[in-house]
Amino acid sequence: MSIAIGAHVDQTDPIAEAKARNAPHVQLFLGDPQSYKGPVFRYDGGADALKADAEAAGVGLYVHAPYLINVATTNNRQRIPSRKLLQQHMDAAASIGARGLIVHGGHVQDDDDPAKGFDNWRKAIDATDIKVPLLIENTAGGTNAMTRYLDRIAGVWDAIAATEQFDQVGFCLDTCHAHAGGNPLETIVDDVRKITGRIDLVHGNDSRDEFDTGADRHANLGAGRIDPDLLAAVIRDAGAPVVLETPGGATEHTADTEWLRSRLG
Ligand SMILES: [Zn+2]
Repeated sequence: MSIAIGAHVDQTDPIAEAKARNAPHVQLFLGDPQSYKGPVFRYDGGADALKADAEAAGVGLYVHAPYLINVATTNNRQRIPSRKLLQQHMDAAASIGARGLIVHGGHVQDDDDPAKGFDNWRKAIDATDIKVPLLIENTAGGTNAMTRYLDRIAGVWDAIAATEQFDQVGFCLDTCHAHAGGNPLETIVDDVRKITGRIDLVHGNDSRDEFDTGADRHANLGAGRIDPDLLAAVIRDAGAPVVLETPGGATEHTADTEWLRSRLG
């Protein structure tokens, strides 16, 4: 089995970026990942051109939603715009024919019962018109995060399992976040699958920080603190397409891809 390996790239010309890496797919932002302003298409010709050109080139597209989306929070001033922004990026992802929209699990406030966050996830799934698979990603940090530790991921999944669009919700496993978040990589693939039943995408990243530090700093593969054999084993066992979110550009991503290929066998 051959695992498809791509990378997170600049959004101006993701097709050229894919070609520069000889990658079958890429991930991009649509606009500013740190802003509540809606999606922006920076590709020449806009969404329709990007969709058509990506199809013609055989390049798969994944869209990463803005980091500040937090549909779990009990703070109305964050949750309501987050839901709106999630729908806008969902619509935008669909308009370019994306294979998935990746969104972080978010968090509740320090004193909140996490159950409120689980229920807010249920409401968000109910309220969103899901047009391409919505892939919820595990995060590295936060004391009251929804998808840092397995018990919380289970809480989210229990809450959303009865929603009508549940089959359109998947999981994105970030290897840096799992390690830095404090989840043993020896069992992470099985542990996640027991909860979610699926891993749709892997963010293949090494970590600049030690286990359970809660820090979210990606490193090139083999250059960080994750045991190299373990990192490769997680990616192999997950058996899903990989997006590298590692530092650098085409040269570094090509090196990371070769590093991984040589270890996947
Ligand atoms: Zn990631």
